[in-house]
Amino acid sequence: MDNNVICEGCGAILQTEDDKEIGYVPKSSLQKSNLLCKRCFQLRHYNKHEAVSLDSDDFLDLVSKIRDTDSLIIHLIDIFDVDGTLLKSLPRIVGTNPIILVGNKVDLLPKSTNQRKVRNWLFSRAKEAGINVLDVFLISSIKSHNIEELAMEMEIRRKNKDIYVVGVTNVGKSTFINQFIKRSTGIKEAITTSYFPGTTLGFIEIPLDRNSALIDTPGIMNHQQMAHYVSKSDLKIITPKKEIKPRNYQLQSGQTLFIGGLARLDFIKGENQPFVCYFSNEVPIHRTKLENADSLYERQVGKLLTPPNQETLANIPPLVKSAYRLHEQYTDIVFPGLGWITVLDSNVTVEAYSPKGVNISVRKTFN
Ligand code: GDP
Repeated sequence: MDNNVICEGCGAILQTEDDKEIGYVPKSSLQKSNLLCKRCFQLRHYNKHEAVSLDSDDFLDLVSKIRDTDSLIIHLIDIFDVDGTLLKSLPRIVGTNPIILVGNKVDLLPKSTNQRKVRNWLFSRAKEAGINVLDVFLISSIKSHNIEELAMEMEIRRKNKDIYVVGVTNVGKSTFINQFIKRSTGIKEAITTSYFPGTTLGFIEIPLDRNSALIDTPGIMNHQQMAHYVSKSDLKIITPKKEIKPRNYQLQSGQTLFIGGLARLDFIKGENQPFVCYFSNEVPIHRTKLENADSLYERQVGKLLTPPNQETLANIPPLVKSAYRLHEQYTDIVFPGLGWITVLDSNVTVEAYSPKGVNISVRKTFN
């Protein structure tokens, strides 16, 4: 079939030959207007996700041609999973093209968060990763927060050139692009969005003017994202849907908090104090004595300690421990893709657990 026909959902080039490959559409559907590939059709009409993965090599082949363009880059990341979504390989992919770093899902941050600090932190994380950014924006694609300001900045910075939007799966790239489609055409839901990572395949272009476009690129799979290890229903639970309500636990040393059964924090040493937990409001948190924690986990993971459910348990790597000695006050222990726990005092020793490969980090708190 004509190679230029693309799926209106994900932007993949449509083909009728191989139903396991990207962009498959049955021949019988070709007569329809608003053509969707089989995957997007299933997603849109039955909310059913069919996994098609684009591994890192495929991704790099596809997107590294951005290096040879003269364009502006929007790198979209999820502020709830900066470690899992900031592309360390970005400079290799985009060459010397200027980059605006955009932190999405700001609507989920508690009201008490100091957004200036979040922005500064993103600047420094980018710098540490060797990514030179022109500017950092915090937005909500869902609530349209700061989208106009970003659009204005993009217009000034692009100097009539194309804009490429680059990000790993599940950062909200489809939702973000949809905002721009709505702004330019008034069409709603032009691209598939889904809870499940990896649903955006192929390139889609939104004309900005006669000669330039906003170009979506396929989402890379970061296999170390929590989102890749959990089942669809667990992902719904751990993904916050609205502003996170901090949950406060007054702990003494020798106590443990379980975040469902996906993460764990042991308070080893320090004065009695509150530990403030920032996770999806639907994720249950359990407090127990450290001495009982191992056996509780053995007996109850997937039952009382859930998520994970049984499907996730079959996939997820075992929990591994890292120890932290906190010298300063107001430190966040960050569990990428899940949330974080703020430790208020200095001189505290904690041990934190997360699935192997989903690496915990520590930062100064934003309040
Ligand atoms: P993509 O894989 O990067 O294209 O991500 P999607 O656009 O499909 O979004 C992934 C998930 O994040 C979906 O559940 C979206 O509803 C959610 N999401 C996207 N943008 C936002 C946002 O600004 N705020 C919140 N709270 N959720 C968002």
